[in-house]
This record gives sequence, C-alpha cells and structure tokens, in this order.
Amino acid sequence: MEQIAVIGSGTMGNGIAHVFAQSGFKVNLVDISEAALEKALKTIEKNLDRMLAKEKIDEATKTATLANITTYADLKAGVETVDLVVEAAIENVDIKLKIFEDLEAFTKPECILASNTSSIPITKIGSVTKRADKVIGMHFMNPVPVMKLVEVIRGYATSNEVTNLIMETSKKLGKVPVEVNDYPGFISNRILMPMINEAIISLFEGVAGVEEIDTVMKLGMAHPMGPLQLADFIGLDVCLSIMNVLYEGFGNPKYAPCPLLVNMVTAGYLGVKSGEGFYDWSHGTKELVVSPQFKK
Ligand code: NAD
Repeated sequence: MEQIAVIGSGTMGNGIAHVFAQSGFKVNLVDISEAALEKALKTIEKNLDRMLAKEKIDEATKTATLANITTYADLKAGVETVDLVVEAAIENVDIKLKIFEDLEAFTKPECILASNTSSIPITKIGSVTKRADKVIGMHFMNPVPVMKLVEVIRGYATSNEVTNLIMETSKKLGKVPVEVNDYPGFISNRILMPMINEAIISLFEGVAGVEEIDTVMKLGMAHPMGPLQLADFIGLDVCLSIMNVLYEGFGNPKYAPCPLLVNMVTAGYLGVKSGEGFYDWSHGTKELVVSPQFKK
C-alpha cells in the first residue's frame, strides 16, 4: 500500500492524514468543503511545528510530510487510484452509506475501504458495497498524532487477509492496533460510555456533586480526567447518540441514557462546544468551573 485517501478533513481526518503522510504514504485528503481542507492543512502544519519545537521530528520530516498530502474537493478524483480509503466524514449514517456507495463505484476493485466511525456498524457499511470482505473499521483516537490506539473492527464479512493487512498498516503508523469484532460500541465506547452515563446517573440521583464525582475517578482510579469533564469534551450530544446505539443495538435497559443527559442535550447544553455542560467553559478550557446549574 502506497497511496491512500482520507475522506473528511475535520478533527479526525486531518490527524489521520497527518500520521499516514508522516509515515511515508501519499495521502489524498478529500472533503466537500474547501474551507475545511484549508483549515486541515493549517492544523497539520501547526502540529508538525509543535513536534519540531519539541525535537520529536526534524525539518526534513515536516517538509516531506506536507509534500505527501494533496487535497481534493472532488471524491472521484481523490480516490480513483488509491489502495486504501479511510473515511472520517461526519457521524451520520445516511451520509456514510452514500459515501461508501460512491467509493464502491469510484475506487479500484481491490481497494480496501476503512471507516473511522465511532458507532455505526461496519457490517452495515460493508453491506452497501460489493466488497464487504474488504470493508473494515479503523477507529483512531483523538488527537490522532498523539494517541497510540487504533481499534481495528472486523465486520461480519471482513476477511482475515484484510484484517491482517490493516493491523500491519496501523503498526507502520507507529500505532498499537487492537482487533475487535463488530458489535455495538465496539470495545472503546461500550465500556467508556456506560461509565460516563453512570456518572451522570449518580449526579442525577444526588449521590454526589460534579466535582466530587470527577475527583473520585481522577484521584481514586488515576483517570487523567473525570467522566463528567470528559463528557463535556466529547460533546453531550455525541455521548447521547452513542448510548442510544448501545441501547437499541443490545435491547438491554442497562444502556438506557440517563434522563438528565437527554434533557441537557435537548436544551442545548452540549459541553465545551456550546460553552456549558457539567462545567462552565465560557472562560476557556484551562479553568474548571462547575456550571451554575450544578453549583450547590
Ligand atoms: P468533524 O465534524 O470534525 O469533521 C467531519 C468532516 O467531514 C468535515 O470537514 C465535513 O466537511 C466533512 N464531510 C461531511 N460530509 C462529507 C462528505 N460527504 N464527503 C467528504 N467530507 C464530508 O468530525 P470528526 O470529529 O473528525 O469525526 C469524523 C468521524 O470520526 C466520525 O465518524 C466520528 O464518529 C469519528 N470519531 C471522532 C472522534 C472524535 O473525538 N472527534 C474520535 C473517534 C472517531
């Protein structure tokens, strides 16, 4: 594999393009938005500069990485010659399925099609192509250049050969791949999201306050960030949507999203991105100030 395409140049897409390009792959970065592509290139350059300042890379690596990336606003032009596509467009089932139908039409038949989806079944994505054996999950973690894990998700029809190739490719990026099967939430979100939901239930039932819950998990369990703070960073809408995927996928009430989470999302309290969630982020993300609604 030499030439790859990354679809979507947002938070995850620019990081994925960065790590492939830095590992010597030629990367076509594709987005429907020219502005997003421009922003992605700036972000990648800024992140390379930060690595340069910390002497993690040299000037030549920075230059070579940037030279390996070409941007495209047209999907067909960006994918027709590549060996691997990693899709990282927005988490919307209809949009993803349409992208994979187009990828089936525009890519070489032997091209492997990967998705960075957090919650959409890989088997479902594979079912809209004629090559479900070559459709796989490559679930990177945010921020991609920093986080070591890649959750490699085998759809029901994904072949051993493709799984092994993607495991090896992930290692070439300096990552640690972990193979998991395609069931709701995979492993990462199946364990993380119920923990966050349980923290919200504890708050909802008045067992403890926001700071107390996060302090127990930070100091007692050595988590770098408490679950309520983490929920604010991830986005409460994203947490709710993944809880609903688990709830519907398993049909088990233990995954029911907490009514407080549902209310906060409905009212627009989404965490950092809306300025307020369990914490008040109107002063920036460096300072931890409990949101007025949860002050005692
Ligand atoms: P984002 O909103 O930052 O970026 C999405 C990009 O996709 C945007 O630039 C948008 O213009 C582009 N896009 C939308 N429709 C498109 C199309 N039809 N063709 C090409 N580009 C299109 O989203 P993100 O946070 O980078 O998430 C991308 C994917 O990664 C999602 O599936 C998400 O679930 C997954 N993910 C996100 C995180 C995270 O922490 N943000 C972590 C792991 C996985």
